[in-house]
Formats: sequence, C-alpha cells, structure tokens
Amino acid sequence: MTHPEYKKRGPVEVRLIEECAEVIQAVTKGQRFGWDNWNPIKPPEGEVHWKNKIELEEEMADLVEHYNELAGKLKLRKLRWR
Ligand SMILES: [Mg+2]
Repeated sequence: MTHPEYKKRGPVEVRLIEECAEVIQAVTKGQRFGWDNWNPIKPPEGEVHWKNKIELEEEMADLVEHYNELAGKLKLRKLRWR
C-alpha cells in the first residue's frame, strides 16, 4: 500500500512501474510462503498482520489506481476496480 504522503511523488509512469514490481513481489511471496501467511517482521496494519493474499489485493488496487491516472493522461479507457 502506498503511503498517502508519497502517492503522487514522481512521474506516473515510474509509479506504475513500481506498482508492477510490487504486484510481482506479492505474488511470489504468496506462492513461496502461502497465501494465508504473512511477513512476521513487517509491522501490522493497525492491530492485524495482512495475509499475503490481502497484500496482493492491495498492490493490485495501487496498480489500477496508477494505471488509471496514466490512462487519463493518454486518453485511454480506465479500468474498474471494486
Ligand atoms: Mg503498492
């Protein structure tokens, strides 16, 4: 999940590339360690640790958000999410 303070930092193309990498990382973590497991050294979100499958969902949401920003800039069709 992107920290709100840094959400718009840098060109949208670079932010989209970064989100692609984060989605790839989330898929590899889920596959390697299990979708219902979580990273024990990562601080919890509130009082709960996000399972790897939730990390993937959040990274996909970030990906779509940044894609849609670029789509607006390029006058492309935006993707729907949730
Ligand atoms: Mg992200």
